[in-house]
Amino acid sequence: MDEYYDVVVVGAGPAGCAAAKGLSSEGFKVLLVERERLPREKPCAGFLPSEALKMVEDDFGTIPEDCFSPQASAKGAFLFLEEETYELPFDGEGAVIRRPSFDRFLAERSGAEVLEGWKASSLESGRFRVNLRLERDEEYRVVEATYLVGADGARSTVLEYIRPEFHRLYASPGTVKLTVLEGEVELGWDPAYLGFLRFKGGGATFFVKDERLTLAVWGTGEAERRALAVLERRLGLSSTVGWRRGIAHSNRMARNGAYCLGAGCALLAGEAAGLVDPWGHGLRLALRSGREAASAIMDSVGENVTPHVLYMRRMKPLLHENERQRKELGGRVGDFDTASLKEGFGSPWRRAFLRRRLFG
Ligand SMILES: Cc1cc2nc3c(=O)[nH]c(=O)nc-3n(C[C@H](O)[C@H](O)[C@H](O)COP(=O)(O)OP(=O)(O)OC[C@H]3O[C@@H](n4cnc5c(N)ncnc54)[C@H](O)[C@@H]3O)c2cc1C
Repeated sequence: MDEYYDVVVVGAGPAGCAAAKGLSSEGFKVLLVERERLPREKPCAGFLPSEALKMVEDDFGTIPEDCFSPQASAKGAFLFLEEETYELPFDGEGAVIRRPSFDRFLAERSGAEVLEGWKASSLESGRFRVNLRLERDEEYRVVEATYLVGADGARSTVLEYIRPEFHRLYASPGTVKLTVLEGEVELGWDPAYLGFLRFKGGGATFFVKDERLTLAVWGTGEAERRALAVLERRLGLSSTVGWRRGIAHSNRMARNGAYCLGAGCALLAGEAAGLVDPWGHGLRLALRSGREAASAIMDSVGENVTPHVLYMRRMKPLLHENERQRKELGGRVGDFDTASLKEGFGSPWRRAFLRRRLFG
């Protein structure tokens, strides 16, 4: 490993791999740093819309079979709200991926030098110069680069260093902790669908993958009990004995339009930038923002402008669209068609109430 790179990308999720791929294909010398060893686990349903599938196939080539879940196609979600159920079909034919093998495939095809098991712990950035400190156990090393892409997910260290005020005011308070329960249970559920639950004081997402049910819950102390009660009452869930418990985080700082795309020569992509849709989904936005970050860096070379300015311009339409969808239930919201909600919540004020309930 060298100590100097054109670009260091922190985080080998979809956003980081997309940025690394875009830059290495243009001849940039790229280091992709990942804190975990690949393949790593990531709590995620892996519902990938057709638009994102196409992006991956265009940039990385054919996705190997072992990256897909056996049920393969993603059809949409059912929203459970009080005693009603609403179908939210997926926008086009999507796929269900297995994150460990999918993300490893992306990293291997990224064209970057991949450094696994090293965590970015701090950094200093100036105009076209970044010094990044990497740590592993008791060891540390410093790498230098001209550009940095922080794609280190919901609790981004890069964001904390490059925009400390933004981190304190928006990112840290906007981070949601989820309790993740996973187990082999009998549940009459079609794995091509996600389940969204919304109730007083919280919500949950559930999915069945490789014959295991995963339930990710957020909200008050009562939320877990409420989510399980819905599954028992509405779907006949009978036992939760032997469930594995874990924790995940989701970055909802953009709930009020507070995205952070970086500063100067250090850009943020994916969930590190707050890029999730109103349902908290982020694979499509991660891939897209990684791509745009790479293009902004390339376009800034030789020009008297920082990549951050170009990246903001490129991302503006996407951010506007995300905001618009959050405010207009009834059409496409994220990767889902919400027409059934328009029918169920006819008047504008009822829809405004529902919006707050769903995305507030
Ligand atoms: C329960 C659940 C279900 C979901 N289901 C879906 C879904 O079906 N569809 C969808 O589109 N989205 C879904 N999401 C959201 C989706 O998982 C994320 O939005 C997406 O993974 C974001 O991609 P990313 O590349 O920005 O970050 P990540 O995928 O989180 O990748 C970040 C990487 O950075 C690494 N990293 C972190 N800190 C450091 C550091 N300091 N140094 C080095 N490396 C670091 C991490 O180990 C990780 O590998 C779900 C989320 C949850 C919690």
